Amino acid sequence: MPKLNKPIIDLATPTQVKNFLVERGLSPRKFLGQHFLVDKNILKKIIETAEIKEGEKVLEIGSGIGTLTLALACEGADVVTIEKDEGAVSLLRELAVSYPNVKIISGDVLKLDLKTVLKESPVWKVVSNPPYSIVSPILFKLVSLKEKFSSIVLMLQREFAERLMAQPGSKNYSFLSIKMQYHMDIEIIHKVSRRVFFPVPNVDSAIVVLKPRKTLKVKVSNEELFFKIADAMFRMRRKNLKNSLEPLNFPVDFYEKSPIDLTRRGETLSLEEIGILTDFINGKIKK
Ligand code: SAH
Repeated sequence: MPKLNKPIIDLATPTQVKNFLVERGLSPRKFLGQHFLVDKNILKKIIETAEIKEGEKVLEIGSGIGTLTLALACEGADVVTIEKDEGAVSLLRELAVSYPNVKIISGDVLKLDLKTVLKESPVWKVVSNPPYSIVSPILFKLVSLKEKFSSIVLMLQREFAERLMAQPGSKNYSFLSIKMQYHMDIEIIHKVSRRVFFPVPNVDSAIVVLKPRKTLKVKVSNEELFFKIADAMFRMRRKNLKNSLEPLNFPVDFYEKSPIDLTRRGETLSLEEIGILTDFINGKIKK
């Protein structure tokens, strides 16, 4: 689909969004995390960040009334967008009528078989301003299909973005940080004020780019074990490694010979160190 030369339907203003909602008798639904983008500059920033090329396949999660959807379509992307709210879907179906490059899926992204949706093409970009309350499960779903994505551009709650990037020893460092940093390069591109949304949420946001790593950050002999250890480390965050790994019942001599000091707290370990621990334990288990 070539880049459309028609003017983008200008949805990114407070008046336009409010008018559409009132016209349709829709009101923003809190439980669906509906905070619509109403700022042209931020819309432009998202589009620029995604570096859309004509004909690229783009997956959007949470279309809302289609502000980002149509902007992506105007760049010539082939957009597949998923929206749970039927009212929003029916409005978007009308707005998108003259956009053959927009496909709307009415449904819940967490229940949808994304693998089938993505079959159409080997490579996709994800561009989305998703509902913040379900970003973790969305990310886990995207990670499980990471081979399909060249880049993932997301609007996220700012604290959440910081958690994704958190380093060992900081209070934000968590299983999520490890899981995401293991699979992806993550960068906060732009801090975004809460005032660019309607209704105004009570948190600030950030535009974040995640790029699936071609080579993993650490190479481990047993990935499942790596994440098992990471998970155990944070289940008992305040305990030292010796105690927090106990439930995993590793061979006893591991405790004497561990290459990592087990009096340390798990939350201080870098991905590389968890890798060292994993390889050491994996060697013992195999024997
Ligand atoms: N992208 C739009 C809307 C953002 S609000 C904009 O920037 O204006 C988040 C959107 O996600 C809402 O429209 C909400 O209805 C939708 N949503 C919430 N939960 C969803 C789910 N489980 N699956 C798909 N869409 C969902």
